[in-house]
Amino acid sequence: MFLLLFGAPGAGKGTQAQRLADFLEIPHLSTGDALRQARQDDTPLGRKAAEFIDAGQLVPDELVVGVVGEKLSQPDCTDGCLLDGFPRTLAQAQALGAHLQENSQQIDLVLELTAPEEELTLRMLQRACIEGRSDDTPETIAQRIEVYCNETMPVLDYYRQQGVVHSIDGTGTPTEVFERIRQVVEKSRS
Ligand code: AMP
Repeated sequence: MFLLLFGAPGAGKGTQAQRLADFLEIPHLSTGDALRQARQDDTPLGRKAAEFIDAGQLVPDELVVGVVGEKLSQPDCTDGCLLDGFPRTLAQAQALGAHLQENSQQIDLVLELTAPEEELTLRMLQRACIEGRSDDTPETIAQRIEVYCNETMPVLDYYRQQGVVHSIDGTGTPTEVFERIRQVVEKSRS
């Protein structure tokens, strides 16, 4: 299964993606995690990405598309993969579509995690205290939510037209949210 997980910053994407990938036994690629790792390793990609991440902006498409293309070409992704935080722009969605088509693959399911904006902000500020992420400052959080609305919501509309999007209430405990996700996934597989 090829799945995409969408959600505004703070919607719980990372937590749920990990659980879902374990449940489905498929690889999980978070572009945010991959970029943070590249930054920690001080690679050219990581150095280029850092300024965009810290400004709450999207990293340029060609850089992110390269990371995902590499991952999807690995043998463990032949039968499926869960992409978390990708695609975030229409250009990325088109690049992904082209890659999958070339390999006779398709997107089976797109999940959107939703939560009210106050809750998103609160969760990210709490995470800032725990994880110390450089992009969890109040200004950057507001910027990231704006970027999500302006650039990523149109991507969801694009998939909505294809009839593969399921919106899931992302409020409540991680276990409650996962149960909602599991039900949607099970239904789509049957
Ligand atoms: P995330 O961990 O998914 O919240 O991503 C953290 C940051 O990494 C984002 O605010 C962007 O700066 C960058 N990033 C992650 N995924 C993408 C993507 N698909 N396209 C562009 N930038 C991304």
